[in-house]
Amino acid sequence: AKETGKGTFVIFGEALQQHFDERMIIENQLRNVIANDELSLHYQPLIDLGTGENWGFEALIRWNSPVLGFVSPLSFIKIAEDSRLIVPIGEWVLRESCGFIKGLQEQGYKNYHISVNISVVQLMMDDFTDMVLKILRDTGLSPQYLELEITESIFMESFEEISKKLEFLKHKGIGIALDDFGTGYSSLSYLTQLPITTLKIDKSFIDGIDAADNRSLASSIITMGHDMGLYVTAEGVETAEQLAFLERTKCDKIQGYFISRPIPGHEVVDWVKERVG
Ligand code: C2E
Ligand code: CA
Ligand code: CA
Ligand code: CA
Repeated sequence: AKETGKGTFVIFGEALQQHFDERMIIENQLRNVIANDELSLHYQPLIDLGTGENWGFEALIRWNSPVLGFVSPLSFIKIAEDSRLIVPIGEWVLRESCGFIKGLQEQGYKNYHISVNISVVQLMMDDFTDMVLKILRDTGLSPQYLELEITESIFMESFEEISKKLEFLKHKGIGIALDDFGTGYSSLSYLTQLPITTLKIDKSFIDGIDAADNRSLASSIITMGHDMGLYVTAEGVETAEQLAFLERTKCDKIQGYFISRPIPGHEVVDWVKERVG
């Protein structure tokens, strides 16, 4: 405990101090990541279970800092959001990944899609929809090949405003996936009001497939999604058993280590060629 000027006491343990120091260092180092070219993207394949074909990829950010080494997005995305640095970083991710998938299309992989994680902080920006449309124009990617992944945290912000933007983009042909589905706090009645095209079931439910008890949870989500006219994607698929179950329950798309880990951009074409054989 530490005495403050006014004679009150605050608990300021060493661990807490360390936590704040670490956040500050990460935030400072994040400021120049774009200018210094420290970011890259890995691409994790998504398989369409209906056709067995590669639907495309989810773009996942990677940060190799000269000061901190490799930093996981799990430890810097929240800090980037709180400091609003996620706005330029998220724009970079979108531009880079749309350009990447357009490049693949031009090499003959015509139907490949790209799915991109979007922070609620980005969605709150007035120019968000303009920014997305401009990147599609600049890269030449058609809107139907882009999917945006949003989370239920949008329910904590101005829902009406964000809904309007998503509705607009959906009308342009862009897919909207609700990521980490099942872990948040959205009521089902809210869900029906959301302009989404896909439910992305969280990995925790896919892990649950291994236990008979929890299996019904995953299949209920798939059935419910389909009843609502949505596609359903499963993330974090790690075993043949999980894949077989998801095939039986008519899940639309899967993603996970069982298919492939996220792949550095320059290795993607090799992976694709190897899979097709
Ligand atoms: P997410 O959107 O839920 O992405 C899935 C995460 O699970 C990724 O972790 C991926 O590498 C990992 N994963 C995929 N398949 C498996 C599997 O079979 N088993 C296991 N154990 N893990 C699997 P990653 O790349 O570390 O990203 C973590 C989170 O960081 C993402 O979770 C997402 O919320 C966020 N993130 C990543 N890139 C971006 C980005 O460009 N923008 C924003 N706003 N967030 C991002
Ligand atoms: Ca995601
Ligand atoms: Ca997520
Ligand atoms: Ca997840």
